Amino acid sequence: MVTARAYAADSATSPLVPTTIERREVGPRDVLIEIAFAGICHSDIHTIRGEWGTVPYPLTVGHEIVGIVAEVGSEVSAHAAGDRVGVGCLVNSCRSCANCLAGEEQYCLNGGVGTYGDVDRDGTITQGGYSSHVVVDEHFVVRVPDGLDLAAAAPLLCAGITTYSPLRHWKAGPGTRVAVIGLGGLGHMAVKLAASLGAEVTVLSQTLAKEDDGKRLGATAYYATSDPETFEKLVDSFDLIINTVSATLDATAYLSLLALDGTMVNLGAPPEPFAVPMFALAARRRSFSASGIGGIRETQEMLDYCAEHGIASDIEVISADQVNEAWERVLASDVRYRFVIDIATL
Ligand code: NAP
Ligand code: ZN
Ligand code: ZN
Repeated sequence: MVTARAYAADSATSPLVPTTIERREVGPRDVLIEIAFAGICHSDIHTIRGEWGTVPYPLTVGHEIVGIVAEVGSEVSAHAAGDRVGVGCLVNSCRSCANCLAGEEQYCLNGGVGTYGDVDRDGTITQGGYSSHVVVDEHFVVRVPDGLDLAAAAPLLCAGITTYSPLRHWKAGPGTRVAVIGLGGLGHMAVKLAASLGAEVTVLSQTLAKEDDGKRLGATAYYATSDPETFEKLVDSFDLIINTVSATLDATAYLSLLALDGTMVNLGAPPEPFAVPMFALAARRRSFSASGIGGIRETQEMLDYCAEHGIASDIEVISADQVNEAWERVLASDVRYRFVIDIATL
């Protein structure tokens, strides 16, 4: 067993506090990673606050993990001690169902295993990346290319792949008019990636406060959703809307912004369901969809793509004792654009 330093919460209402957790013995196909940085995803907060269901407290969250390989099991061939690696939202899956074989482990028919708060295939509860070490099956460990700054690469493991995957699936590129709702962690990656793929990008944010940033990140237009005129002006304007908002929105208002055959892809995961009126879809043969993170092969492809195109996350590095304050700032939409915990301070 490896005893790791960690931050964990004891209940939905308690703060994260320092603790220790046990990581399993390094098995033949396992990789022991000394974690260097862990990004703060809004999903960490939804989870701990109990917004998505029952939580096995005490729980350590964090699924934007980067670090250095400390040790590998006897059968590991893809990674070696000293390598720069990352782990995202998944640490296991059945590896044999049709979706796993297609490289879409996040849609495993037998249940993929999330990086925290999930039951691993050996029956233990998974614990996340706000910790000093993690032991993960080599298949779920990806390489962080040399060209990427390690801290700025951490958010790519969730915010990066979660936005890259739907942009690829719905073929964002030259001639595609993409709107990104919400300029937070996922949103700022969606803007960077869509712009780099050649799409025309518009940001739909609550206010115009971050307009300069949005344009620097690659958007050509920026609108405040608090202004009712935005919805009149932009009717029938987009082929693809990427919704990254952590709260429920008025689906009808946003669907009206889609052109014929346009798709609204929901990445934000608020606890309450959306009401989607049939007529808002039928008026222009629109689609209302959603996407969950991305598979391991595509996560590696995304990291390689980011290294090649000089893309990483805009981050604010914090020490571990600032994590509760950082969560409050995420909840207040006061994040530019991802908090990353320096695990050495833990
Ligand atoms: P985040 O950094 O907090 O960004 C969310 C942004 O949404 C905020 O910055 C804000 O942008 C906007 N927003 C927040 N509250 C709002 C409200 N009440 N009305 C309108 N806009 C609001 O969060 P994140 O880490 O990017 O995560 C976003 C969501 O995606 C979360 O629900 C998370 O759980 C989910 N998620 C899903 C997946 C997946 O696989 N589908 C993966 C990761 C995360 P402005 O200030 O620009 O308005
Ligand atoms: Zn996440
Ligand atoms: Zn499977």
